[in-house]
Amino acid sequence: MNLEQSFNTVQKEYLSGFFSGLNQRGGYNPFVGRMPDGVYTANPNSGVANIATEEETVYGTPVEDLCKEERIKHELSGLDCYERIRESAAQDKLPEGGDLFRFKFYGLFNVSPAQESFMLRCRIPGGMLRDYHLEGLAEMAEDWAGGYSHVTTRANIQLREIQPRNAIKVLEKLVDIGLTSRGAGADNLRNITCSPTAGFDPEEIYDTRELAKAMHHIILNTRELYGLPRKFNISFDGGGAISVCADTNDIAFYAVRVGEGHGVEPGVYFRVQLAGITGHKQFAKDCGILIKPEECIATATAMVRVFIENGDRTNRKKSRLKYLIDKWGMEKFVEKSEKKLDFSFGRLPLSDCETRRDIRRHGHIGVHPQSQEGLSYLGVSVPVGRMTPEQMKGIAQAAREFGNGEIRLTVWQNLLIPHVPNERIEALKGRMHELGLGCEVDMIRSGLVACTGSQGCKFASADTKGNAIALGDYLENSVDMDAPINIHLTGCPHSCAQHYVGDIGMQAVKVKKNDQSAEGYNIVIGGGVDNEQGIAKDFMKGVAFEDAKPIIENLINHYKAQRNGDESFVDFARRSDVSELATIAEAGIGAS
Ligand code: SF4
Repeated sequence: MNLEQSFNTVQKEYLSGFFSGLNQRGGYNPFVGRMPDGVYTANPNSGVANIATEEETVYGTPVEDLCKEERIKHELSGLDCYERIRESAAQDKLPEGGDLFRFKFYGLFNVSPAQESFMLRCRIPGGMLRDYHLEGLAEMAEDWAGGYSHVTTRANIQLREIQPRNAIKVLEKLVDIGLTSRGAGADNLRNITCSPTAGFDPEEIYDTRELAKAMHHIILNTRELYGLPRKFNISFDGGGAISVCADTNDIAFYAVRVGEGHGVEPGVYFRVQLAGITGHKQFAKDCGILIKPEECIATATAMVRVFIENGDRTNRKKSRLKYLIDKWGMEKFVEKSEKKLDFSFGRLPLSDCETRRDIRRHGHIGVHPQSQEGLSYLGVSVPVGRMTPEQMKGIAQAAREFGNGEIRLTVWQNLLIPHVPNERIEALKGRMHELGLGCEVDMIRSGLVACTGSQGCKFASADTKGNAIALGDYLENSVDMDAPINIHLTGCPHSCAQHYVGDIGMQAVKVKKNDQSAEGYNIVIGGGVDNEQGIAKDFMKGVAFEDAKPIIENLINHYKAQRNGDESFVDFARRSDVSELATIAEAGIGAS
């Protein structure tokens, strides 16, 4: 055994300090411990000093080879920067240098120059909120942030425009109301998602709530699971009607049924898909294993540990899970993970499992019956995920009054209020309308997804949220859309709004229009998730936003005129010659 590798950084620091203390005391300093050859010794000249002097590594990578972010973490873990956050709050100063990265371990993002302030990202496992959480967040938005919140594409909440002096106040209040932001940013396991209708979807195979919560708490309470080579996403899909886009995650667990005659006990299991990263045009792929629901958390934790120990810490561009699996192959990764467990993975071809039922597009908006007799849930449209404190408080109050106080956020930047007696659902709808929130399926608006954009992100080339609303308004007045369509606007190649999985995906770029710099987009079409899985294809590049509106209008009208029966937009886009569609859509600009 290599002695160097048998101690982690914290242990080495401790030992180094311990022996330096002994040295300072002078005299005989016996070493009692295990030598590299496994022999225990008390010989003072046993070579233990080498622990401190041997080349220092982080999971086998020499410190001198680490990339910038790894060096920052090596110097001081983000988990240990809380005192610095207090200092920066006392001085009302935004962090600089390495602390800019470290503060993200507490969900605090210095987003200057887009906004000279912090953005706070919470952790809300499975998007499961209680009324009092939302009320507390509304107060924080009012008192210390910009007077609004954003629902994110990980069914989470972000507050923006927090002045540094208020950083500690928001962190403390978050804990007071029962939430946390620990590990919400930087190289950590991000908010755990699960099917938004888990526990009340009549069509689900498995209720994934407990899995999302369990994973959340393992992460919070296991120091080793912080400081990964890069960010990491995990999702649990219960197999019901509503998608959680699990196949866009690094690890996706999909509930499946296996019937008689496949060599395993018939019942409900999980398939595991690995290495989704849609910004790099890759979905998670099935890795061939079949596990029991009670094995999911241990499996996820083992896989994350394999990634921690073997992921690339020298090059940020190659440090996501995808690249480790590209290097090793799926089989080796699965075997290494299995070795960390006290059970073996089942192996079964995917084709021996029942096929996942179709997802229902925009299926979460409006009124839907629950698996519990006499109860329904209401899906509420939150345009591009933005809510005012009044709306947040109103939703919380309504969830308490009409339901049981529960609220579910979705990865579609919308929310659900469940457990409402059927006879009270119309009154709840009325309450939402009073708050300025729609509950009707709008074929276009219900599927509009936008990242933060230039209103609050320094990477953005356009105001994606503003443009998404403007596009929704434009299409509402120009297109009579009769089938659900998803349009995703993302501000830069990081693809937080996952434009490659939209029916229509738009990635912002700067363009010239009339010799002036203007906001524009590269447009892709034909993307989808789950049973519609596919990466969207290039449609047009460098289109000024003002031109994109009529182009999309023409594209949708052309789809309506040319589709076969009730053919969906995604099927139409995939069977069409995209360059031909682009020519038709562009040619019609003058006519529109
Ligand atoms: Fe910012 Fe880019 Fe993510 Fe949009 S996609 S929020 S611009 S990093």
